[in-house]
Amino acid sequence: MDIKKVKEELLNDMNDVKDLKELEELKIKYLSKKGLITELNQNIKNIENSEKKEYGMKVNELKNSFINFYDEKKKYFDELILNAKLKNEEVDISLPATKILTGAPNILEKIVEEIEELLISMGYDVVDGPEIEEDKFNFELLNIPKGHPARDAQDTFYIEGEDILLRSQTSPVQARVMLSNNGKNPIRMICPGKTYRRDDDDATHSHQFMQIEGLLVDKEVSLSDLKGTIDIIVKRLFGDKIQTRFRPSYYQFTEPSVEVDISCFNCDGAGCNICKHSGWITVAGAGIVHPNVLRDCGYDPNIWTGFAFGFGAERLAMLKYGIQDIRTFYMTDLREVKSFDREEI
Ligand SMILES: [Zn+2]
Repeated sequence: MDIKKVKEELLNDMNDVKDLKELEELKIKYLSKKGLITELNQNIKNIENSEKKEYGMKVNELKNSFINFYDEKKKYFDELILNAKLKNEEVDISLPATKILTGAPNILEKIVEEIEELLISMGYDVVDGPEIEEDKFNFELLNIPKGHPARDAQDTFYIEGEDILLRSQTSPVQARVMLSNNGKNPIRMICPGKTYRRDDDDATHSHQFMQIEGLLVDKEVSLSDLKGTIDIIVKRLFGDKIQTRFRPSYYQFTEPSVEVDISCFNCDGAGCNICKHSGWITVAGAGIVHPNVLRDCGYDPNIWTGFAFGFGAERLAMLKYGIQDIRTFYMTDLREVKSFDREEI
């Protein structure tokens, strides 16, 4: 093949090249080891000596013109590809953003934290205890001996025999703290935590629920100290206008025992569905610690007195957030969980 023919073919090919792939194919066709221009170069040995110089120059010229063409075209195609890519990846900043869902505190935790924060500021300790408990701490030390009918009210999950159980209340933590103090030091503590009872599964009962119990042991503690403390807690949770009232009640580990009512935060006492038209809502049980409990837990009832109170965290949350079914706290339905978070968003 002579220079003229290769040149003609090259010019045609250069006119036809449409993309980077074709350009690279041309490079192979002309400049590779067996490429047409390479072959022309190798053919120089067959050229007459007198014509070698001119032949060499022409082949070089051809080669250079192709290399120039190749470089320019490659640059052009590369830019084309880059621009297409950029256009494809363009960010439209006017588009609405995807909403990022964030977690929010569980409202039971929020209630507990609110009470914890308040009581810590009043000098209380927050104490934890085992959920798998001994009968001794859950019942006996709390003035509920074996066979006592008061046990029936707390239908308990027993794990091993009659001695190991899932705690039916958080009061055993109080017994543990009193015993560990050897009857010497005053106590101010709360023990929020999960408790378990074989309660019927209905809208207001769950087999697992959360208590927030408090205990204060000191000298000359009176019912009015208890009332003042409860008053501060419910005002923090439901507002400054809330009134507190005590009604006589019965618990085995307190004497006297009271049920704590608050004036209805919804109707200010006028009567509505939440307070069942009574103007009052029961929120806690409380009382003065029974002398038997003090004595059994190592405190001399002639020297020490104390009060105890217990809130149900779910009940407080249901009231505060208008939730109808206690079981929704422990379900995994995200729609429910999100509805709880409405105050957060
Ligand atoms: Zn009401």
